[in-house]
Amino acid sequence: MPRILVTNDDGVHSEGIHALAQVLAPLGEVTIVAPIKEASAIGHALTLWHPLRLDRVRDGVFAVDGTPTDCVNVAIAHVLHGKPDLIVSGINKGWNLGDDVTYSGTVAGALEGALLGIASIAVSTQNRNKEFDFAPAARAAATMAEAVLERGIPKFTLLNINAPYGPNKGFKATVQARRNHITVVSERIDPRNRPYYWIEEGQDHWEPHDRSDYQAVRDGYVSVTPLHPDMTAHEAMEFVEGLPLVSPVEVR
Ligand code: MN
Repeated sequence: MPRILVTNDDGVHSEGIHALAQVLAPLGEVTIVAPIKEASAIGHALTLWHPLRLDRVRDGVFAVDGTPTDCVNVAIAHVLHGKPDLIVSGINKGWNLGDDVTYSGTVAGALEGALLGIASIAVSTQNRNKEFDFAPAARAAATMAEAVLERGIPKFTLLNINAPYGPNKGFKATVQARRNHITVVSERIDPRNRPYYWIEEGQDHWEPHDRSDYQAVRDGYVSVTPLHPDMTAHEAMEFVEGLPLVSPVEVR
């Protein structure tokens, strides 16, 4: 029976992770190892400067007071005592589309799996007026999990799945959308008359693209994007090669 590790960034008590674990249960032996509290937008952070505690919540469910990346590593070293056959991270409350994947703890959980050579999937669902419908995303995750367990996945690749709220039109293979980041940083005044700042979610100015993850979910499809940890801008290699690449001794 394949071993499936389930993690997330919304925390071990989030509804989304249990919906996911439930739907994956027929496919293998599911173990949940997830942050004890919400770690959204924590990206691929690894905790190096304080100890991590591992709490058993109940059979097959564990909490770590760290990040999704911490959870994957602690799970492999001290819960599963070896690598699982599949890691599924989510179901996140809210989409992880386009450039947002770089902030996402949900995607980072799967990214860590991909770096370790484990087949990995990240799953997120639409936030519609703070309402979530986990069932369609869970079904999509189960379908992809089953396929990946059967066929494997290209090395160092993870699947980023995003589902719209409610019924959908099926899957679409997509690329990451691009958007112009407009992050709003509000200034407020605290009771001691000192300013403080609050980062608000950026407004969406997505570049139109007919194959993008954003377009797919907007059109009512479940988006499946293959991602990998290689951040090399391959199309910029020529630019770098054209820079004055002289030896540092010669500079000045
Ligand atoms: Mn989250």
